[in-house]
Amino acid sequence: MTQPATVDDLVPAVPCAYCRSPIPAESFTYWSAAKRLLSAPCPDCHRRVTLAATTWQRWIQTPEQATS
Ligand SMILES: [Zn+2]
Repeated sequence: MTQPATVDDLVPAVPCAYCRSPIPAESFTYWSAAKRLLSAPCPDCHRRVTLAATTWQRWIQTPEQATS
């Protein structure tokens, strides 16, 4: 049941909404005072990606399983 941990596992990433490049979860910051939205600049296409906090938390709590 145990799998070797990799850096990717330890640092969850959220795919960019525009180019699908992984954006480190830690780079997201709260965008609204109500903390319902987070945003981060994409390191690849440099667009600002905005996520609902619930969506972001889902990515963090259940990192995408290796399917490749
Ligand atoms: Zn991008």
